[in-house]
Amino acid sequence: MTKANYERPIINRVSAGVPDKFGMKTRIQPISKIDGVDVKSILAQYGSPVFILSENTIRRTYQDAYRAFSTRYPRVQFAWSYKTNYLDAVCNIFHQEGSWAEVVSGFEYHKAINNGVEPQHIIFNGPDKSEADLILAINNGSLIHIDHFDELYLILKLSDTLTRRPKVAIRVNMDTGIYPKWDRFGFNYENGEAWNALNRIMISGKLDLVGIHTHIGTYISSVQAYTTATTKMVDLILGLKRKYNFDVKYIDMGGGFPSKNTLKGAYLPGIDTTPTFEQFAEAITGVLLSSELDPQNLPLLILETGRALIDDAGYIAGSVLANKRLSDGRRAMIIDIGVNLLFASFWYDYPVVPINSVSGNVEDTTIYGPLCMNIDVIRASVQFPALNAGEHVLISRVGAYNMTQWMQFITLRPNIVLIGADKQVYLLRKAETPETITSNELVPDVYKKFNV
Ligand SMILES: *Cc1c(COP(=O)(O)O)cnc(C)c1O
Repeated sequence: MTKANYERPIINRVSAGVPDKFGMKTRIQPISKIDGVDVKSILAQYGSPVFILSENTIRRTYQDAYRAFSTRYPRVQFAWSYKTNYLDAVCNIFHQEGSWAEVVSGFEYHKAINNGVEPQHIIFNGPDKSEADLILAINNGSLIHIDHFDELYLILKLSDTLTRRPKVAIRVNMDTGIYPKWDRFGFNYENGEAWNALNRIMISGKLDLVGIHTHIGTYISSVQAYTTATTKMVDLILGLKRKYNFDVKYIDMGGGFPSKNTLKGAYLPGIDTTPTFEQFAEAITGVLLSSELDPQNLPLLILETGRALIDDAGYIAGSVLANKRLSDGRRAMIIDIGVNLLFASFWYDYPVVPINSVSGNVEDTTIYGPLCMNIDVIRASVQFPALNAGEHVLISRVGAYNMTQWMQFITLRPNIVLIGADKQVYLLRKAETPETITSNELVPDVYKKFNV
């Protein structure tokens, strides 16, 4: 170990945020390696900024989640939520672990098919399934989760012309004590719409009702919400049993578990407040096991967990472009990572640290991205040490949604690499070039010539 340099003590007024009961964090630990691989060497090879994913973290997190459920309930199946991160290599790591695919568009459906997922293991969710998408999914025997009555009528109509019986479930929305309620997707439980839809499916005799589905929201930090949701879902399953002596094959509780990220304005950091997979598993399986469901014939429990399985596995490394003083004297640091790449920074206070060990003296700092846009703020106010232009920063827990919701704006999107379990660094998505953008553009002849 090298001896740290002596720095004279400085007293600074702390004006960044409110201290929690543990006080204010003022020491920042640099992170120079991920899974034993030097972040600086990745930046040198793949440019700045660069997204970095960890295969070990993906697999470990998945296995933790699977274990939490499978040790409590005999039949558990995860389905990877493609929209959370649909890089093919990432999806395939989840498929290697045994996950099915959960998709919400024709585009994602084709991605899952191209990845080689068996069609009967693809769950097709969402309000936007075209007639062509539905015909393909029906012919393939995929699991179609109906979102609204118009879709139900369309599937009933299609079933008259197709030879294969559609395999369907309905999506149910409900009051779980989380507000605002997510009632725009699926059929409502409280007003009887969900039960009505189930009856129409049963009485039509044209569809194979295979399951029921809910997805109560995202970043749900209340375990109780899942207890409530599972109770209402079981009520529907028991209703089908009573009225039709019919058993659904599965109950799909959707996604929604929070990651350890800290929401903006939260009093305590997410790492201290986020419930564990065990707590969610206990809530959901506890209701199932103690319900009136036949213990010899329990439905398969499907989970479509997205965010909580991948957030921790993602990082983005970048560089300091400049430092400046704002008009009120506060320090500002501009980095080459903007909200165009970190869409979720509108909700999260992402952890930002230097890559190299630096001064222990921290100061209230605003961290800006590089865009010419006032809202391009990565951290509005954070205690941060002084870094020089050209030095590097690392932002953690960025694996969920950013690599799918990112936008191409002002500048091009960077490389995405994965640190494999073998410690090799693999390129998963190449940085965009100007041609990536212009190859889809057309300039009609009348707009080709000008004089300026
Ligand atoms: C987005 C989505 C998920 C994943 O949600 P997370 O909150 O990321 O776990 C699961 N199911 C459906 C239907 C979704 O739309």
